[in-house]
Amino acid sequence: MRGILAIVGGGASGLCAAVRAAESGRFSRVIVLERGPRVGRKLLATGNGRCNLTNRYASPENYRCRTGRHPEFVRPALEAFNVGRVLSFFESLGIVPLEEEDGKIYPRSLQAASVLDVLRFRAEELGVELCCDQEVTGIRPAAEGFVLLTAQGKLRAERVLLAAGGAASPKLGGTDSGCRLLEELGHSITPLLPSIVQLKTELTTIRPLTGIKVDGIVTLTGGDTPVSQTGEILFTDYGISGPPVMQVSCQATRLLEAGGKPVISLDLASEYTKEELFLLLKARAAARPEVLLENFLVGMFHKRVGQTALKAAGIAPLSRKAGSLAPNELNALVSQLKSWKLPVTGTMGLLNAQVTAGGAELSEFDPNTLESRLIPGLYACGEVLDIDGDCGGYNLQWAWSSAMLAIESMI
Ligand SMILES: Cc1cc2nc3c(=O)[nH]c(=O)nc-3n(C[C@H](O)[C@H](O)[C@H](O)COP(=O)(O)OP(=O)(O)OC[C@H]3O[C@@H](n4cnc5c(N)ncnc54)[C@H](O)[C@@H]3O)c2cc1C
Repeated sequence: MRGILAIVGGGASGLCAAVRAAESGRFSRVIVLERGPRVGRKLLATGNGRCNLTNRYASPENYRCRTGRHPEFVRPALEAFNVGRVLSFFESLGIVPLEEEDGKIYPRSLQAASVLDVLRFRAEELGVELCCDQEVTGIRPAAEGFVLLTAQGKLRAERVLLAAGGAASPKLGGTDSGCRLLEELGHSITPLLPSIVQLKTELTTIRPLTGIKVDGIVTLTGGDTPVSQTGEILFTDYGISGPPVMQVSCQATRLLEAGGKPVISLDLASEYTKEELFLLLKARAAARPEVLLENFLVGMFHKRVGQTALKAAGIAPLSRKAGSLAPNELNALVSQLKSWKLPVTGTMGLLNAQVTAGGAELSEFDPNTLESRLIPGLYACGEVLDIDGDCGGYNLQWAWSSAMLAIESMI
């Protein structure tokens, strides 16, 4: 007899799983229990509302787990349900993919709402029961399946898929509720940390730059190997943000957690070597020796960035003239612009993070099926597992691939 599949969580992975399960015809009913008033709230906010739904180059190297290494755990899901299969699935629902820089793939409409809509439409068409405002507060193994507890009562299910996501961005529904449910069932949970998050840094040298955006290279040091990312950096009143900062933040979080001392180095003149920049600035000072230092870098850097860099390099007062710059001062200025050091003091936390690092301990799930090794019939997918991916569509790819693998192994 066909039984009931209960999916805990109506986010990216839960909705994808629901559609796949209903399409298979394996279950008598597919029920999604969602604690929020609507399904897919986080999905709507992805990619700045455009939904970077996958990345052409997704591979296990783009993912981390508690130990920080590329987890082999993701390989079976990513191989069985690779980017091509995920795109075919979404194309079958009506999404026309649009590839942008660095392999990032969006719906052609550039609306995250489209991705949520097509999943919802198909789920409804297939008779999936989407039950909102139904927080699952307990999962009890029972004869021939499970009993799920919600404020509305009890639900019996043959199989349970935990797709409850992570604790990042509570304003968008992020919660550790899924981890707590697993913990009650005897599963281990690795510490939940923010990933893809803004960084707090020492502010002494950058305080005047709040609100300014510049292009540059962000390098994080303090770990075994430095990691670098290029892109737009935003200076803020707590530190720095912007895509390259978010990219290296996962390593920074882990270093901080381990008691390390991560340092960010900003290269704001990456098109020049140090020697080239030195010669360029020297020639600039020689060409216009009467220019006040406060205006010396105008036209080459944002005015405030130039002035702040001069001060941070110990060059004062700015009412001096460019012609007075000594070679050691030019060297100090070059170092400031090419490797502006910002010790990392913290992160903006799970409250502001896009993704949760940590979660359900991977050794307690079979990577080939995503079934619990402790509780047969219980499966998990998406961010509730201790997997976090790089910024750029990789986290949603994991949500889709893991949801599809979990359902495939049930049918
Ligand atoms: C602002 C922002 C932008 C992002 N942009 C991108 C992007 O462009 N590309 C990308 O790849 N990733 C992006 N991410 C990350 C991506 O959204 C997540 O990795 C992905 O949504 C995880 O899917 P999931 O199904 O595991 O969890 P979620 O999508 O978070 O869904 C989990 C659902 O479970 C529900 N739930 C939790 N506990 C219970 C319970 N006990 N009972 C019932 N329901 C429960 C929650 O309310 C939630 O709806 C972004 C994240 C944020 C916050």
